[in-house]
Amino acid sequence: MTTTKDADQVGPLALGPLRAEPGTTVRGIVPADLGTLTVDVPLALVAGARPGPRVVITGGVHGGEFTGVDAAHRLAALLDAEEVRGQVLICIVANPLAAYRGRLNVSSIDGVNINRVFPGDPQGSPTERMAAWIFAQLIAGADAYLDLHSGGIDQTLRHFVGVRLTGEADVDATTVAMARAVGIEDVIFGQNAEGGNSHAAAVRQGVPAILVETSQLGERDPAVIGGLVDGLKAVLRRLGVLESDGSEPAAVREWVWSGEVASDVTGLWYPEFTAGDDVTVGQIIGRIVDPADGREHVVHAPASGNVFYGMRGLTVVPGTELAAIASAAVPGRTAESLQTPSEPEVLS
Ligand SMILES: [Zn+2]
Repeated sequence: MTTTKDADQVGPLALGPLRAEPGTTVRGIVPADLGTLTVDVPLALVAGARPGPRVVITGGVHGGEFTGVDAAHRLAALLDAEEVRGQVLICIVANPLAAYRGRLNVSSIDGVNINRVFPGDPQGSPTERMAAWIFAQLIAGADAYLDLHSGGIDQTLRHFVGVRLTGEADVDATTVAMARAVGIEDVIFGQNAEGGNSHAAAVRQGVPAILVETSQLGERDPAVIGGLVDGLKAVLRRLGVLESDGSEPAAVREWVWSGEVASDVTGLWYPEFTAGDDVTVGQIIGRIVDPADGREHVVHAPASGNVFYGMRGLTVVPGTELAAIASAAVPGRTAESLQTPSEPEVLS
Protein backbone atom coordinates (compact mmCIF):
# COMPACT_ATOMS: atom_id res chain seq x y z
CA MET A 1 0.00 0.00 0.00
CA THR A 2 1.34 3.37 -0.97
CA THR A 3 -0.74 6.44 -0.71
CA THR A 4 -0.47 10.12 -0.15
CA LYS A 5 -2.38 11.51 2.78
CA ASP A 6 -0.81 14.94 2.93
CA ALA A 7 -3.56 17.52 3.30
CA ASP A 8 -2.40 19.51 0.28
CA GLN A 9 -1.30 16.71 -2.00
CA VAL A 10 -3.05 13.99 -3.85
CA GLY A 11 -1.12 11.03 -5.11
CA PRO A 12 -1.76 7.73 -6.75
CA LEU A 13 -3.41 4.83 -4.95
CA ALA A 14 -1.58 1.55 -5.48
CA LEU A 15 -2.08 -1.97 -4.23
CA GLY A 16 -0.29 -4.98 -5.69
CA PRO A 17 -0.36 -4.65 -9.47
CA LEU A 18 -3.14 -2.04 -9.39
CA ARG A 19 -2.41 1.68 -9.53
CA ALA A 20 -4.98 4.48 -9.78
CA GLU A 21 -3.84 7.98 -10.60
CA PRO A 22 -5.68 10.87 -8.95
CA GLY A 23 -9.11 11.34 -10.46
CA THR A 24 -9.36 7.76 -11.75
CA THR A 25 -10.80 4.42 -10.70
CA VAL A 26 -8.93 1.20 -11.42
CA ARG A 27 -10.55 -2.20 -10.98
CA GLY A 28 -8.75 -5.50 -11.09
CA ILE A 29 -7.30 -8.45 -9.25
CA VAL A 30 -4.74 -8.44 -6.47
CA PRO A 31 -3.32 -11.88 -5.65
CA ALA A 32 -3.16 -12.83 -1.97
CA ASP A 33 -0.59 -15.49 -1.03
CA LEU A 34 -2.13 -17.74 1.63
CA GLY A 35 0.77 -20.16 1.93
CA THR A 36 -0.62 -23.32 0.37
CA LEU A 37 -2.60 -21.43 -2.24
CA THR A 38 -3.04 -17.99 -3.76
CA VAL A 39 -6.42 -16.35 -4.25
CA ASP A 40 -7.43 -13.54 -6.58
CA VAL A 41 -9.04 -10.67 -4.70
CA PRO A 42 -11.19 -8.32 -6.82
CA LEU A 43 -10.70 -4.69 -5.87
CA ALA A 44 -11.68 -1.23 -7.02
CA LEU A 45 -9.29 1.60 -6.18
CA VAL A 46 -10.95 4.99 -6.37
CA ALA A 47 -8.29 7.68 -6.23
CA GLY A 48 -9.93 11.02 -5.62
CA ALA A 49 -8.84 14.12 -7.44
CA ARG A 50 -8.79 16.05 -4.18
CA PRO A 51 -7.33 15.29 -0.74
CA GLY A 52 -9.46 13.60 1.91
CA PRO A 53 -9.80 10.50 4.03
CA ARG A 54 -9.08 6.94 3.00
CA VAL A 55 -12.17 4.76 3.33
CA VAL A 56 -12.21 0.98 2.99
CA ILE A 57 -15.31 -1.08 2.21
CA THR A 58 -15.39 -4.89 2.20
CA GLY A 59 -18.04 -7.21 0.84
CA GLY A 60 -17.85 -10.99 0.83
CA VAL A 61 -15.93 -11.45 4.06
CA HIS A 62 -18.42 -14.27 4.61
CA GLY A 63 -19.76 -16.55 1.92
CA GLY A 64 -23.47 -16.76 1.25
CA GLU A 65 -23.96 -13.08 2.12
CA PHE A 66 -24.72 -11.49 -1.20
CA THR A 67 -26.09 -7.99 -0.72
CA GLY A 68 -22.79 -6.53 0.44
CA VAL A 69 -20.92 -8.02 -2.51
CA ASP A 70 -23.43 -6.65 -5.00
CA ALA A 71 -23.57 -3.25 -3.29
CA ALA A 72 -19.77 -3.00 -3.28
CA HIS A 73 -19.65 -3.87 -6.97
CA ARG A 74 -22.33 -1.30 -7.79
CA LEU A 75 -20.71 1.42 -5.69
CA ALA A 76 -17.38 0.86 -7.45
CA ALA A 77 -19.10 1.37 -10.78
CA LEU A 78 -20.92 4.56 -9.86
CA LEU A 79 -18.34 6.55 -7.87
CA ASP A 80 -16.79 9.29 -9.99
CA ALA A 81 -13.18 9.66 -8.86
CA GLU A 82 -13.18 13.25 -10.09
CA GLU A 83 -15.85 14.01 -7.51
CA VAL A 84 -14.16 12.09 -4.67
CA ARG A 85 -12.16 13.65 -1.87
CA GLY A 86 -9.61 11.17 -0.61
CA GLN A 87 -9.48 7.52 -1.56
CA VAL A 88 -11.99 4.69 -1.49
CA LEU A 89 -10.78 1.09 -1.56
CA ILE A 90 -13.63 -1.27 -2.35
CA CYS A 91 -12.91 -4.95 -1.85
CA ILE A 92 -15.79 -6.63 -3.60
CA VAL A 93 -15.09 -10.24 -2.60
CA ALA A 94 -12.80 -10.03 0.40
CA ASN A 95 -12.73 -13.76 1.20
CA PRO A 96 -12.95 -15.70 -2.07
CA LEU A 97 -12.33 -19.01 -0.27
CA ALA A 98 -15.71 -18.77 1.46
CA ALA A 99 -17.60 -16.61 -1.02
CA TYR A 100 -17.04 -18.79 -4.08
CA ARG A 101 -16.64 -22.22 -2.51
CA GLY A 102 -19.43 -23.35 -0.24
CA ARG A 103 -21.02 -19.92 0.26
CA LEU A 104 -20.75 -20.29 4.02
CA ASN A 105 -19.36 -18.21 6.84
CA VAL A 106 -16.63 -20.83 7.24
CA SER A 107 -14.13 -21.64 4.53
CA SER A 108 -14.34 -25.06 2.92
CA ILE A 109 -10.53 -25.07 2.88
CA ASP A 110 -9.91 -25.00 6.63
CA GLY A 111 -13.29 -24.67 8.35
CA VAL A 112 -12.35 -21.30 9.85
CA ASN A 113 -14.83 -18.42 10.24
CA ILE A 114 -12.71 -15.50 9.12
CA ASN A 115 -14.73 -13.00 11.13
CA ARG A 116 -13.58 -14.61 14.37
CA VAL A 117 -9.86 -14.38 13.65
CA PHE A 118 -9.14 -10.73 12.71
CA PRO A 119 -6.57 -9.18 12.61
CA GLY A 120 -5.43 -12.58 11.37
CA ASP A 121 -2.19 -14.53 11.44
CA PRO A 122 0.24 -14.31 8.50
CA GLN A 123 1.67 -17.71 9.55
CA GLY A 124 -1.68 -19.38 10.21
CA SER A 125 -4.22 -21.36 8.21
CA PRO A 126 -5.31 -20.08 4.79
CA THR A 127 -8.29 -18.24 6.31
CA GLU A 128 -6.14 -16.77 9.10
CA ARG A 129 -3.70 -15.58 6.43
CA MET A 130 -6.58 -14.15 4.41
CA ALA A 131 -7.65 -12.13 7.45
CA ALA A 132 -4.09 -10.93 7.95
CA TRP A 133 -3.88 -9.92 4.29
CA ILE A 134 -7.16 -7.99 4.43
CA PHE A 135 -6.11 -6.29 7.63
CA ALA A 136 -2.59 -5.35 6.56
CA GLN A 137 -3.32 -4.44 2.93
CA LEU A 138 -6.66 -2.68 3.37
CA ILE A 139 -7.75 -1.81 6.90
CA ALA A 140 -4.54 -0.80 8.68
CA GLY A 141 -3.96 2.91 8.25
CA ALA A 142 -7.41 3.65 6.85
CA ASP A 143 -9.43 6.56 8.18
CA ALA A 144 -12.71 4.60 8.17
CA TYR A 145 -13.85 1.05 7.48
CA LEU A 146 -17.22 -0.47 6.57
CA ASP A 147 -17.76 -4.24 6.53
CA LEU A 148 -20.86 -5.45 4.69
CA HIS A 149 -22.58 -8.63 5.86
CA SER A 150 -25.94 -10.42 5.77
CA GLY A 151 -27.59 -13.27 7.54
CA GLY A 152 -26.17 -16.45 6.03
CA ILE A 153 -27.97 -18.73 3.63
CA ASP A 154 -29.62 -20.51 6.58
CA GLN A 155 -30.17 -17.45 8.79
CA THR A 156 -32.97 -14.93 9.21
CA LEU A 157 -31.85 -11.42 10.04
CA ARG A 158 -33.33 -8.05 10.92
CA HIS A 159 -31.26 -5.26 9.34
CA PHE A 160 -28.92 -3.48 11.72
CA VAL A 161 -25.63 -1.65 12.08
CA GLY A 162 -23.14 -2.99 14.62
CA VAL A 163 -20.58 -0.87 16.45
CA ARG A 164 -17.90 -1.49 19.02
CA LEU A 165 -16.70 1.35 21.19
CA THR A 166 -13.12 1.71 22.37
CA GLY A 167 -13.16 4.57 24.85
CA GLU A 168 -11.04 6.57 22.40
CA ALA A 169 -13.28 9.59 21.90
CA ASP A 170 -12.28 10.46 18.35
CA VAL A 171 -12.53 6.89 17.08
CA ASP A 172 -15.86 6.29 18.82
CA ALA A 173 -17.34 9.57 17.60
CA THR A 174 -16.56 8.81 13.96
CA THR A 175 -17.78 5.22 14.36
CA VAL A 176 -21.11 6.37 15.80
CA ALA A 177 -21.50 9.09 13.16
CA MET A 178 -20.97 6.50 10.43
CA ALA A 179 -23.48 4.13 12.04
CA ARG A 180 -26.11 6.83 12.23
CA ALA A 181 -25.54 7.88 8.61
CA VAL A 182 -26.19 4.51 6.98
CA GLY A 183 -29.96 4.92 7.01
CA ILE A 184 -30.68 1.68 8.89
CA GLU A 185 -32.90 2.38 11.89
CA ASP A 186 -31.37 -0.05 14.35
CA VAL A 187 -27.85 0.36 15.73
CA ILE A 188 -26.56 -2.26 18.16
CA PHE A 189 -23.71 -1.45 20.54
CA GLY A 190 -21.28 -4.13 21.60
CA GLN A 191 -19.99 -4.23 25.14
CA ASN A 192 -16.40 -3.75 24.12
CA ALA A 193 -14.04 -3.95 21.18
CA GLU A 194 -12.69 -7.42 21.91
CA GLY A 195 -12.88 -10.45 19.64
CA GLY A 196 -12.01 -11.40 16.10
CA ASN A 197 -14.62 -9.45 14.15
CA SER A 198 -13.09 -7.23 11.50
CA HIS A 199 -14.74 -4.05 12.75
CA ALA A 200 -13.67 -4.79 16.33
CA ALA A 201 -10.07 -5.40 15.27
CA ALA A 202 -10.18 -2.18 13.25
CA VAL A 203 -11.38 0.07 16.06
CA ARG A 204 -8.82 -1.46 18.43
CA GLN A 205 -6.17 -0.15 16.06
CA GLY A 206 -7.76 3.27 15.85
CA VAL A 207 -9.70 2.86 12.60
CA PRO A 208 -13.35 3.91 13.02
CA ALA A 209 -15.43 1.01 11.72
CA ILE A 210 -18.95 -0.29 11.41
CA LEU A 211 -20.62 -3.59 10.60
CA VAL A 212 -23.59 -3.30 8.24
CA GLU A 213 -25.99 -6.28 8.21
CA THR A 214 -28.65 -6.40 5.49
CA SER A 215 -30.66 -9.26 4.03
CA GLN A 216 -30.88 -12.95 4.91
CA LEU A 217 -31.24 -16.50 3.59
CA GLY A 218 -29.12 -15.89 0.52
CA GLU A 219 -31.50 -13.24 -0.79
CA ARG A 220 -30.34 -10.61 -3.28
CA ASP A 221 -33.26 -8.23 -3.43
CA PRO A 222 -32.46 -5.29 -5.74
CA ALA A 223 -34.37 -2.86 -3.52
CA VAL A 224 -32.30 -3.87 -0.47
CA ILE A 225 -29.09 -3.64 -2.47
CA GLY A 226 -30.06 -0.22 -3.82
CA GLY A 227 -30.82 0.95 -0.30
CA LEU A 228 -27.45 -0.28 0.87
CA VAL A 229 -25.67 1.57 -1.96
CA ASP A 230 -27.54 4.73 -0.93
CA GLY A 231 -26.47 4.12 2.65
CA LEU A 232 -22.82 3.74 1.65
CA LYS A 233 -22.99 7.02 -0.28
CA ALA A 234 -24.54 8.70 2.77
CA VAL A 235 -21.63 7.51 4.92
CA LEU A 236 -19.17 8.79 2.31
CA ARG A 237 -20.93 12.18 2.44
CA ARG A 238 -20.74 12.13 6.23
CA LEU A 239 -17.00 11.44 6.01
CA GLY A 240 -16.46 14.25 3.50
CA VAL A 241 -15.54 11.92 0.63
CA LEU A 242 -18.61 12.97 -1.33
CA GLU A 243 -20.18 16.42 -1.39
CA SER A 244 -22.78 16.93 1.31
CA ASP A 245 -26.34 17.12 0.05
CA GLY A 246 -27.41 19.01 3.16
CA SER A 247 -29.54 16.19 4.50
CA GLU A 248 -29.41 15.12 8.12
CA PRO A 249 -29.41 11.44 9.06
CA ALA A 250 -32.71 10.06 10.31
CA ALA A 251 -33.04 9.14 13.97
CA VAL A 252 -31.88 5.66 14.94
CA ARG A 253 -32.91 3.26 17.68
CA GLU A 254 -30.06 2.16 19.91
CA TRP A 255 -29.83 -1.38 21.24
CA VAL A 256 -27.51 -3.49 23.33
CA TRP A 257 -27.00 -7.24 23.03
CA SER A 258 -28.93 -9.01 25.78
CA GLY A 259 -28.55 -12.72 25.05
CA GLU A 260 -27.75 -15.51 22.64
CA VAL A 261 -28.58 -19.19 22.53
CA ALA A 262 -26.83 -22.03 20.73
CA SER A 263 -27.84 -25.65 20.28
CA ASP A 264 -26.37 -28.14 22.75
CA VAL A 265 -27.49 -31.19 20.79
CA THR A 266 -27.51 -32.61 17.27
CA GLY A 267 -30.94 -32.71 15.69
CA LEU A 268 -33.69 -31.06 13.70
CA TRP A 269 -34.48 -27.45 14.61
CA TYR A 270 -38.04 -26.14 14.57
CA PRO A 271 -37.92 -22.42 15.43
CA GLU A 272 -41.05 -20.67 16.70
CA PHE A 273 -39.88 -17.16 15.85
CA THR A 274 -38.34 -15.23 13.04
CA ALA A 275 -35.88 -12.35 13.10
CA GLY A 276 -37.61 -9.17 14.21
CA ASP A 277 -39.86 -10.90 16.75
CA ASP A 278 -40.05 -9.75 20.37
CA VAL A 279 -39.40 -12.48 22.92
CA THR A 280 -39.60 -12.71 26.71
CA VAL A 281 -36.98 -14.43 28.82
CA GLY A 282 -37.95 -18.07 29.36
CA GLN A 283 -40.33 -18.15 26.41
CA ILE A 284 -40.12 -21.25 24.23
CA ILE A 285 -38.50 -20.13 20.96
CA GLY A 286 -38.15 -23.51 19.30
CA ARG A 287 -37.61 -27.23 19.65
CA ILE A 288 -34.84 -29.57 18.54
CA VAL A 289 -35.97 -33.09 17.69
CA ASP A 290 -33.60 -36.05 17.83
CA PRO A 291 -34.12 -37.79 14.46
CA ALA A 292 -33.14 -41.15 15.98
CA ASP A 293 -35.74 -41.42 18.71
CA GLY A 294 -38.04 -38.44 18.20
CA ARG A 295 -37.23 -36.93 21.59
CA GLU A 296 -37.73 -33.20 21.83
CA HIS A 297 -35.42 -30.62 23.39
CA VAL A 298 -37.15 -27.36 24.16
CA VAL A 299 -35.18 -24.12 23.63
CA HIS A 300 -36.03 -21.07 25.75
CA ALA A 301 -35.22 -17.40 25.16
CA PRO A 302 -32.20 -16.54 27.32
CA ALA A 303 -33.23 -12.88 27.56
CA SER A 304 -36.05 -10.52 26.73
CA GLY A 305 -35.79 -8.30 23.71
CA ASN A 306 -35.94 -8.52 19.95
CA VAL A 307 -34.41 -11.30 17.89
CA PHE A 308 -32.01 -9.74 15.36
CA TYR A 309 -30.69 -13.05 14.11
CA GLY A 310 -32.14 -16.54 13.94
CA MET A 311 -31.29 -19.96 12.55
CA ARG A 312 -33.64 -21.14 9.83
CA GLY A 313 -31.71 -24.26 8.78
CA LEU A 314 -33.23 -27.57 9.83
CA THR A 315 -30.12 -29.51 10.83
CA VAL A 316 -28.13 -28.26 13.81
CA VAL A 317 -25.24 -29.52 15.91
CA PRO A 318 -23.87 -28.50 19.31
CA GLY A 319 -22.74 -24.90 19.00
CA THR A 320 -25.04 -23.95 16.13
CA GLU A 321 -26.18 -20.41 16.80
CA LEU A 322 -29.98 -20.40 17.11
CA ALA A 323 -30.87 -16.83 18.08
CA ALA A 324 -29.34 -13.54 19.18
CA ILE A 325 -31.40 -11.04 21.12
CA ALA A 326 -30.92 -7.32 21.71
CA SER A 327 -32.77 -5.02 24.06
CA ALA A 328 -33.46 -1.34 23.63
CA ALA A 329 -30.75 0.89 25.07
CA VAL A 330 -31.77 2.86 28.14
CA PRO A 331 -33.10 6.26 27.00
CA GLY A 332 -30.94 9.18 27.94
CA ARG A 333 -27.73 7.22 28.12
CA THR A 334 -25.29 8.21 25.46
CA ALA A 335 -23.89 5.61 23.17
CA GLU A 336 -20.45 6.31 24.52
CA SER A 337 -21.48 5.36 28.06
CA LEU A 338 -23.37 2.18 27.23
CA GLN A 339 -22.47 -0.87 29.22
CA THR A 340 -24.05 -4.23 28.57
CA PRO A 341 -24.02 -7.36 30.70
CA SER A 342 -23.16 -9.73 27.91
CA GLU A 343 -22.65 -9.88 24.21
CA PRO A 344 -23.16 -12.69 21.76
CA GLU A 345 -20.29 -13.79 19.60
CA VAL A 346 -22.73 -14.97 17.00
CA LEU A 347 -23.31 -11.89 14.94
CA SER A 348 -20.95 -10.89 12.28
ZN1 LIG B 1 -21.32 -12.31 7.86
